[in-house]
Amino acid sequence: MLFDSCRKCRSSRVELQKRLFGSNLKVTQDCLRCNRQSEWSSQPFLAATPAGNLLLSAAILFGGQGPNEVLCLLNSMGVTTHSVRSFFIHPEKYLLPAVERTWDEHVHDLHRMLNETGTPLIIGGDGRADSPGYSAKYGSYTAQKLNHNKIIHLQLAQNNEVKNSGHMELEGFKRMMSSLRVAGLTVEKVVTDRHRQLAKYVREQELDVLHMFEVSKRRLTSSQRRRVSKKWGTGREASTITYTGVPQSTTNKEEDHER
Ligand SMILES: [Zn+2]
Repeated sequence: MLFDSCRKCRSSRVELQKRLFGSNLKVTQDCLRCNRQSEWSSQPFLAATPAGNLLLSAAILFGGQGPNEVLCLLNSMGVTTHSVRSFFIHPEKYLLPAVERTWDEHVHDLHRMLNETGTPLIIGGDGRADSPGYSAKYGSYTAQKLNHNKIIHLQLAQNNEVKNSGHMELEGFKRMMSSLRVAGLTVEKVVTDRHRQLAKYVREQELDVLHMFEVSKRRLTSSQRRRVSKKWGTGREASTITYTGVPQSTTNKEEDHER
């Protein structure tokens, strides 16, 4: 056994103490002959936290699991883990700051790359609320650079920052446009769902931006379908196709486009 004898004098007259720190096992060996004391841990430490505990919390959080269920499962198998209480300390102290830093670096690098290429952006954007109806408290607005399939902006809005929760999507869009401008980027086209406030805002305030709408094929009239098919070819008429920017007389800046 690893701890049966002293590593210095090879004596077998040793005392062992085993202690668990969550998923980490720490063994302290005291030699009764030469009085040498040595310690061994089953995991490396990150500051005072065993790496395995942090990795387990990260796996639970990023995997979208419930901490109670995962830790209960492991304990049922006889695998030692840290407590649920410790799990809730890790995201606040380590994991979420790490996510924020990684995201900031990603956005910074992406914006720098886009600035270097200088190509105007084609963006797909949509809002998402934390609950349906008019009771949502938080809304996020996500912008994707369509020709690279990369998220280039993520914006949060709270309902008390705007008139009501129905205005959070537009507020997120405004903040997104503002942030991209601050980063020195030019938006050429935006593709969104048919959000009326947003359409009005782009039509009146974002005069240099071409606004295209994402429209389900099922909502097109037969003549609109024919026009889209004529432009994009019949081979693209699969039922899952989503058309954007189907020409409508009520909007002034639209074009046919298929995603
Ligand atoms: Zn010894």
